Formats: sequence, structure tokens, C-alpha cells
Amino acid sequence: MPAYASVVIDVDSTLCGVEGIDFLAARRGPKVTAEIVALTDRAMKGEIPLESIYGHRLTMIRPTRADIAALATEYARTLAPGAGNAIDAMRRAGVRVVLVSGGIREAIAPVARTLGFDDSDLHAVSLRFDDAGNYVDFDRSSPLTTQPGKPMLVTDLMQEGRLSRPVIAVGDGATDAKLVGVVDRFAAFTGFARRENVIAVADMEVPTFAKLEQIVRGMD
Ligand SMILES: [Mg+2]
Repeated sequence: MPAYASVVIDVDSTLCGVEGIDFLAARRGPKVTAEIVALTDRAMKGEIPLESIYGHRLTMIRPTRADIAALATEYARTLAPGAGNAIDAMRRAGVRVVLVSGGIREAIAPVARTLGFDDSDLHAVSLRFDDAGNYVDFDRSSPLTTQPGKPMLVTDLMQEGRLSRPVIAVGDGATDAKLVGVVDRFAAFTGFARRENVIAVADMEVPTFAKLEQIVRGMD
């Protein structure tokens, strides 16, 4: 029997070594990049709420379909070492694995499909484009654009029986750390970023997906 029935995995700086919004900003030049990286960092440290910057960052960048395709390639390129094997092994052990991200769904979906995730097991924020592929808006109904979004969504999934307990969540940011007390264990992922505010409240640190697999399968 695995130690956990379900695993909730963050995407940016956890499953993949990129912050999607920062990558998109870099395509708009150094000034936009500096402003957006600073905002993202403050949000992931918990200094400002995500909802105060979510729309602002996208309006500054206005990512096109082509930008999102480039980001999808970057997600695939920066996939955490061993993540594919670990996710396969956890699934074979009967563990349910889902992705919960405040990132852009259309950019994450290709790598998620490569890793065998059903579209219904990828929870992220959709963008809308016009026919020419220009940015129109983001899904303003998604809780994942807000600071309490992950706990709200994960609580729903648990209550609907779509995530069996015990549940472990793994992520690197302040929005992930909000899952403390909602899931049964929260692991700070430190393979790409070390955020002391997140590590401080986490039940444990996990530096690699191989280690995550051991913990989930009860082999640590
Ligand atoms: Mg993250």
C-alpha cells in the first residue's frame, strides 16, 4: 500500500523549472521582465496576494498563441529530472496524481498529456484568444488566480471524491503553502527554488521527484 492515495503537484518551479509568466514577460523585453519577475517573486513569497497581480501581469504581456506555444516548449524542455518516471511509478502503485497550477492551461497541457495526464486532471487557468491568436482575457471564474485558490479547488476535489485521502501536495510557492491544513501533508519542493517562507510551514522538503515517489509509496 502506498503511503498516500493522491498527490497534488504544482507546475511552475516544481514539475518544470520555469515560471511561465516570467518566461512570457522575457519575450516583451527587459523592462517588462524586471517588473513582472519582481511581482511574481513577491507573490510567491506571500508578500502580496496573487489576485492583485494576476490580471495586471497578463495585461502587460498580452501573450499570443505563438507565445503560449513557445512556453509549452519551455515547459517540456525544463521538466524536472525523473518526473516522468516518478509519476508513472506512483500511478502504477495505484496513486492518483493531479496537477494544480495558477499557470496557463494551454501552455501546460502539451507536457501534461506527454506525462499521461487526462485533461480533467490538469487544473490551471485558461486564456481566451481572438481568431488571429491575440490575447483577449483569462478565465476570471477560476479560483486559481487568487491566493486561496488552491485550497478552495483541492477541498472541492476531496469533497467530490476525486482525490482520495490521504493526500500529499508538493509545490514551491506561497499559494501551494496555503494547502497546509487542507491536505494531509505538504511538501516544499526545493529542486528549482528555495523559498524559506514555504519551507517554514511545510511538513517536509522534497528536492527531487525520485524522493517524492519514495515518500508517496512509503519507501522513504
Ligand atoms: Mg510553483
